[in-house]
Amino acid sequence: MRIVIFGPPGAGKGTQGVRLAEKLNITHLATGDMLRAEVAAGSKLGNLAKQYMDRGDLVPDDVIIGMIRSQLTESDGMVLDGFPRTIAQAKTLDDALEESNTPLDRSIYFNVDRDELVRRLINRATEQGRSDDTPETINRRMDVYDEQTAPVLDYYKTLGKVLEIDGTGTPDEVFDRLLDAVKSGS
Ligand code: ADP
Repeated sequence: MRIVIFGPPGAGKGTQGVRLAEKLNITHLATGDMLRAEVAAGSKLGNLAKQYMDRGDLVPDDVIIGMIRSQLTESDGMVLDGFPRTIAQAKTLDDALEESNTPLDRSIYFNVDRDELVRRLINRATEQGRSDDTPETINRRMDVYDEQTAPVLDYYKTLGKVLEIDGTGTPDEVFDRLLDAVKSGS
């Protein structure tokens, strides 16, 4: 099973992506987590990425694609979380999956309105202290999402296969909806 989960910052992709991958016993590939690990390790890639992340900007496509390309087809199944975030990344994913003859089974979009997203991110800032959860960066990330990532969702919609779920409510409620979406429609 190959599943992409989409949604703006704060939509709950990370929380739900981990749970879904565990439940289906497949890999959770989260570019945000991979980047934070690089930052924590102080690698060259991490130091470069940090400058973009702390501003709320996307890390350049060539860096992201270089980091994830080989892992896209490595495992039997995966939940992709935070990737693709640009049209160039979506095309890379298409090509990789076509080459390995392993098409995407689902793309699932978490719908949450902007006021709720900002509330959640401000909350997370106090709880986890992520360096990109400051008020200025949060707004920038929302704008970047609208400008660069929303078109990816439209691109997937034209290909069909996008299922939208309501991302509000408790994590358990959202997870139930997510499982229903994964099981339904093929
Ligand atoms: P969120 O979606 O909640 O903001 P993520 O953990 O997915 O958080 O991403 C955090 C940051 O990492 C992004 O704001 C961006 O700078 C960078 N990032 C993650 N994934 C990508 C990607 N696919 N392309 C470019 N930048 C990325």
